[in-house]
Order: sequence, then C-alpha cells, then structure tokens
Amino acid sequence: MQRYLLLTVLAFAACKKPVDLKKEEAAYDAYLEALPELRVVQKNIPVQLNVAYVENPHLPTLDVAGRQRVYASVEALARRVYGFDLKITETRQQTIADFFAAVGPRFAETPIRFPSVAFLISWFAPNRDALVAETIAAALKKHSTEKLAEYLGKDTDPAAASRVFLQKLTSIYAEKNATGRPLLSATNRQEEAWYSFGHWSTILQGEKEFDFVLTNVGIIGADNGMPLYVIARGGVTSAFVENNAYRPYQGAGMLGAYPFLSDSPFFIAERGALTATEKEEAIAWLWLHELGHLLLKKEENYSFSDSVHRAPPNLKYHEWVKTVRATKDHRSDKVGLMKKF
Ligand SMILES: [Zn+2]
Repeated sequence: MQRYLLLTVLAFAACKKPVDLKKEEAAYDAYLEALPELRVVQKNIPVQLNVAYVENPHLPTLDVAGRQRVYASVEALARRVYGFDLKITETRQQTIADFFAAVGPRFAETPIRFPSVAFLISWFAPNRDALVAETIAAALKKHSTEKLAEYLGKDTDPAAASRVFLQKLTSIYAEKNATGRPLLSATNRQEEAWYSFGHWSTILQGEKEFDFVLTNVGIIGADNGMPLYVIARGGVTSAFVENNAYRPYQGAGMLGAYPFLSDSPFFIAERGALTATEKEEAIAWLWLHELGHLLLKKEENYSFSDSVHRAPPNLKYHEWVKTVRATKDHRSDKVGLMKKF
C-alpha cells in the first residue's frame, strides 16, 4: 500500500545505521513498479487462506473457539457476498514478541524495509506534533469540504484535526494492559513497532507462508500517509492488505483486533459497548472488506455508504455492520480495480 509523504531524507533502520531515504525510496518504487499487475481471483476454484494468529498475552484475546467462529463467519460471508469457496486455516500461533523476533530480518532487507524506516511518525519524536500536523494537512487537501465534515465533524481544519487526532492517540496509548502498564510509553518504547503501519507493511511484503495475520494487537499510531478515515479514528488502521511477491493472491493482509476487543473507556465511548458476539461479527465483516481488496482487487471506496467495500468511517464498527449486513447489493461491479495494493 503506497501512501506516504516523505518528510525527512534520513532515517535509522533497525540496524541503527543511517539510511538514505531518497535512495531507499527509489529502490522501493522500482520494486513496486516491477511487480506484476494484480489479477482478480477466479471464483470457480477454492480459495485457501493461511492465517497466523499473533498474540500479545497481556491484551484482550480471541480464544481458540472465538477465532474458529470468526473464521467460519468469514467463510460464510465470502460465499454469500462475493461467491468465493473460501477456506481459512490457522497454521501458526505465536506471541507478538516471538513473531517480531522472527520477522526482524525483513526490517534490514532492501527494498521492502522502506516502509518500516520511512512511514512511522514516532510517538517519541521531538518534532512529532509538527510532523503530524504536516501529514494531516496534506491528507485533508485531497478531500472535499463535505467529505471532511462527514469524517471529521466540525474539526475539519488541519490544526483542529491534528489536535483531536493527538488527543485520541494519547488516550489509546495510555490504556493499561493486564499488567497495569500503558500500551505505549517511554518504558516500553521498543514495542512501538508492534503498532506501526510501516513495520506491518514491511512484514507483509516479506511474508512467504501466510495470506493473513490476525492479531489482538492493533495498528495504532501516526504515519506519514494516513488516509482520512485513519486520521478520523485517531490513528487506528483496523486492517490492510499489502503487495506480496510470494503468495498466490499477490498480497498479504493483517487484521489488528485490539480496537474491536478493548473495553477501555475510550473504545467504549468511541465504538460503543459490544458483546463478544458483536465483536466477532465486526471482525468478520471487516475481514470481508479486506478480502474485497485481496481477492477482488477492489480499491478503497468512499461513496457507497452501505457497501462492504467502504471501510467503517469511524470506530463504530458494529453500527457499520448493521448497515452493511442488511445490504443486498454491495455494488462490487461499480468499485474500481487496483493495479497495486
Ligand atoms: Zn479498505
């Protein structure tokens, strides 16, 4: 998913050597350019999705039975809404710490490491607020006044949108895990990568075994290419699909379930209190939205408010579910195709 605005020309990779971002960017762009054009997955043969479940044991979890219910729901929805004969197999379970240790070499691998070194606006950056304001101002310019009001309410000017964004993100990072420690603070700043869109982008582009990662962690943070709905949610990317040169459907995706599973005051207020069944239903529908990208190669849709191809505009996931599950025609044929994820 190519969505960044290069804000600096030097960064420091996992190996701590300075990286010339202009050079890395050129290599990354050339690699993306050389990837074959995306092909829509045919519906007359079964689709097999290999899934890894990656868990932070200190955050709310989806247990084995809950995950099996989600997989079964996604399979049923993929058949009913898209017409795919889909089978999901969970082929690995791993802790988030072990998973990041295993994928660590990808953060040193040119060209796919580029997102992991260039996208994140670190929570700990001294000029963080200025970088956030700059990236949000650039993102807002791409949309009409009406669209901005729809997603951001009254806070549609860049300064107000940035202030609200930082307030929301501050609330989320201050949430306590089961050990009583905040999700992200100076004492565990090395875990920032777990929440980073750019790091997950690199992970997915280097993935050779899985088509999807399901995790109870979330992509939550600022990066230099956030789309409007991520800005509106305070930095929450619920899920996404990335280019992948190794997997059969030319992409690999991840779904970060923390914003669905957390019962913190912030998520209760923004999302609503949900039962376990409603949480699972919301995860399954969001996953179906992602399969619209992975299998049908549908681009992000901002217009059809009752179609599964339009991502939830805010954190009210289950309100979105109630709308899309009642829809008879999701207008897949009217949503454009992507050439690259
Ligand atoms: Zn989407």
